[in-house]
Order: sequence, then structure tokens, then C-alpha cells
Amino acid sequence: MDQFDYIIVGGGTAGCILANRLTASGRFRVLMLEAGGEARSMWIPIPAGFSKLLTNRKFNWCFETEPEDNTLRRKIAVPRGKGLGGSTLINGMIYARGQPEDYDSWEQAGARGWGRATSSRISGSSKATRKATSGEAMTVR
Ligand SMILES: Cc1cc2nc3c(=O)[nH]c(=O)nc-3n(C[C@H](O)[C@H](O)[C@H](O)COP(=O)(O)OP(=O)(O)OC[C@H]3O[C@@H](n4cnc5c(N)ncnc54)[C@H](O)[C@@H]3O)c2cc1C
Repeated sequence: MDQFDYIIVGGGTAGCILANRLTASGRFRVLMLEAGGEARSMWIPIPAGFSKLLTNRKFNWCFETEPEDNTLRRKIAVPRGKGLGGSTLINGMIYARGQPEDYDSWEQAGARGWGRATSSRISGSSKATRKATSGEAMTVR
């Protein structure tokens, strides 16, 4: 039977990045479990295509809130991505970099390693992130 050092549940944004980082050294065997399938739809790489996937149960869990008085008893749609890549399969592809001061204030509040220097280094490795979310992190070493 195969044995693994880590099991990651969910092959979404965080899961793929984590799998990529853990396997980068070649020291760890990682099993990533994803409930959905592969990201095979012409709408996924098209920036405005996500509107076509907001009701597609293959790539979207299509969660809804419970009706409550504050929403006039309406159910509010809560889309979440399903499949390798997670919510990036159905997101708007809008990239917004955080304010450097925000990262520094987190570090000053005690979150060591979350300052602007570390965040710049990590966002500089977005190539690795793209590689991870393209499915290569599924490779078990
Ligand atoms: C409609 C929409 C538009 C968005 N637009 C933008 C945008 O323009 N710019 C931006 O920066 N962000 C955007 N986001 C937000 C961004 O996509 C998410 O914050 C991010 O992808 C969340 O990453 P995550 O790893 O937390 O979760 P996800 O990427 O959602 O990954 C969770 C994964 O876990 C899997 N999973 C769940 N339960 C199980 C289980 N029991 N077993 C196995 N697998 C399981 C799911 O199928 C999914 O693949 C958008 C999000 C949505 C929903």
C-alpha cells in the first residue's frame, strides 16, 4: 500500500500551492485528494467565462445560504469552485496586490514572517503557483 508524509484534502488554490511547496524538495510524498475532476471546460481560461460556470454543478458546489429574515427569506448563492484548481476555476481572475503596510502591520502584531519582505518573495514565485494550479502538483513523489 502507498504511504504518504502528508495528505491534503482539497486541490484548490491553497491545496495546490501547499502540494507544490511540499513536493519541491523531493523529500516528501504527498497525496492530494480533490472531490471534483479536472479543469476541462472552454469557459475556465476565458476571463469573462466564469459567468457561464456560476450554475454549473460540475465545477461549482453551488452552495446557498439558508433563508433568513435579514435577507427577506431569500437564499443567497455562495459559489465555490469544485475541481482541480478549486475556486480559481470559476473566479474573475482579478489580481490585486495587497498594501505593503498591511503585511508589515501583521508582522508587527506578532505574525513573524508575514511582513512585506516575505510577501514579495512569495508573490515573486507566482510561476510556481501557476505550475501548481495547472495540475502538476497532483504528481505523487
Ligand atoms: C465566483 C468567484 C469569483 C472570484 N473572483 C476572484 C477574483 O477575481 N480575484 C481573486 O483574487 N479571487 C477571486 N475569488 C476568490 C478566490 O478564487 C478564492 O479565495 C480562492 O480560490 C480560495 O482558495 P481556497 O484554497 O481557500 O479554496 P478553493 O480554491 O475553493 O479550494 C477548495 C477545494 O477543496 C475541494 N473540496 C472541498 N471539500 C472537499 C472534500 N471533502 N474532499 C475533497 N475535496 C474537497 C473543492 O472541490 C475545491 O477544489 C473568487 C471566488 C469566487 C467563488
